[in-house]
Amino acid sequence: MQNRDKLYGRRWREARASFLTMNPLCRICQAQGKLVAATVVDHILKHDGDTGLFWRVDNWQPLCKVCHDSTKQAEERRGFALGHGLDGRPIDARHPWHRGAQDLDDEGGGM
Ligand SMILES: [Zn+2]
Repeated sequence: MQNRDKLYGRRWREARASFLTMNPLCRICQAQGKLVAATVVDHILKHDGDTGLFWRVDNWQPLCKVCHDSTKQAEERRGFALGHGLDGRPIDARHPWHRGAQDLDDEGGGM
């Protein structure tokens, strides 16, 4: 665990800037057919100071400020994050999809 100030240091600012260069459009607006510049790199899953989660690029999404703020509010009401990993599975273990999937895939042990 590192404290938040350390996580959001120079390395993050550089990683964030290059991520936004590669992913310049807000993902949510784009899904709605709008082209809006992303200004925020959002962590799909709250990292809570977990450096592994913090630096996982498949846990990042480009958002505009408006979407970032409204998404996070909706997520807090809903209790889980939307978003999919590179394998197409919902990234948040609290997502209801995982409840159904556990019956089909009993290898388990993922967490
Ligand atoms: Zn947006």
